[in-house]
Amino acid sequence: MKDFSLLQKKYIVPTYPNRGLTFVEGEGVYLKDILGEKYLDLMTNYGVNLFGYAHPAITRRLADQLGRLTTLHGSFTNDVRTEAAQRLVGRCAGGLARAFFSNSGAEANEAGLKFAVLATGKKKFIRCRNGYHGKTLGSLSATDGKKYREPFEPLLWHFTAVAYDELGELEAALDHETAAFIVEPVQGESGVLVPREGYLKSAAELCRSKGALLILDEVQSGTGRTGYFLASHPEQLSYDLITLGKGLAGGIPVGATLVSESVAEKIPRSSHTSTFGGNPLAAAGILAVLDLLNDDRLASIREVGDYFLKGLKTIKSGLITEARGKGLMLGVEVREKRDDVLKELQRAKVLAIPAGENVVRFLPPYILEKTHVDEALEKIGSVFSALSPG
Ligand code: PMP
Repeated sequence: MKDFSLLQKKYIVPTYPNRGLTFVEGEGVYLKDILGEKYLDLMTNYGVNLFGYAHPAITRRLADQLGRLTTLHGSFTNDVRTEAAQRLVGRCAGGLARAFFSNSGAEANEAGLKFAVLATGKKKFIRCRNGYHGKTLGSLSATDGKKYREPFEPLLWHFTAVAYDELGELEAALDHETAAFIVEPVQGESGVLVPREGYLKSAAELCRSKGALLILDEVQSGTGRTGYFLASHPEQLSYDLITLGKGLAGGIPVGATLVSESVAEKIPRSSHTSTFGGNPLAAAGILAVLDLLNDDRLASIREVGDYFLKGLKTIKSGLITEARGKGLMLGVEVREKRDDVLKELQRAKVLAIPAGENVVRFLPPYILEKTHVDEALEKIGSVFSALSPG
């Protein structure tokens, strides 16, 4: 058998750590490796495969679109693209009026930052410490973390970093020169941090009082992940700009930047475009996801997520400092041995991912059932008892 792992190490630029597994197919909540072994997928490729693998409704819709039309430049009108934009705007609501489509979360944020400059005429931004918005140059300017930023500094424009879930520093940093404050409704990459209720609402009011826009990065927390279509929906905001990505198009690369009409009015023709943005294949994926992500599904994400979190909280281990999260965006913070926990889980055929320095993160598919959670909790519990001191 060909050693794909060796070939990957040889031919792919080594910017990713290697987990030592070769996966060749997936079905439902399981990924299958090249030896035919099944792994319970509690990470969905960093939050992409929202409905698991090979979901018949998604596969059918994508296959049908592949046979009709896969790409069409944005200067022509397309049936599925316009329908995807209209339905997405309707689902996000909160005064959002139009969508710009791109191909990744980082690109969605690039567009968000550029649109904020166009709408305000200003180039000063505020970002959060430990915030993550992608690694292309514009979004990297908004991302925190020395290891990501340092080799590339100086980065773009003028960004001030403030504490997350804290209004004093934000208020002090905001002034009439501020274009926008960019923030995640739940910080994902830095460790699954859910802010206090009301934080986003107060941040939005502070921004408005200074004439600054609020950019909500819902790339990871949106599209149902926390049990609401947008994680920020419970705060009933009136939105300026939000960004989406990850699994929005059923696994086809996608980014979406949604804007209010008053922001849209200030965006001139040709100021931002993308050859593949809004291609009909991705648009068909968006329609398939929107169809599946109905109120019942959102309720089940909340229910199964609460059940999973409750189970994680009952695991007794001296290694665990906290289990937290919302919906199916969950994390277990450990004192030490985070990577050992991930390795041992992998050995037990459960896939989780790291977040921050000391968090084991779970971003399972929305088709996860309580029986899968029971299977996972049993294995997670055993891994923690095997690794716990004493
Ligand atoms: N924003 C957030 C909140 C993210 O979690 C991510 C990816 N983890 C991104 C932006 C970047 O998305 P992509 O990797 O698709 O560029």
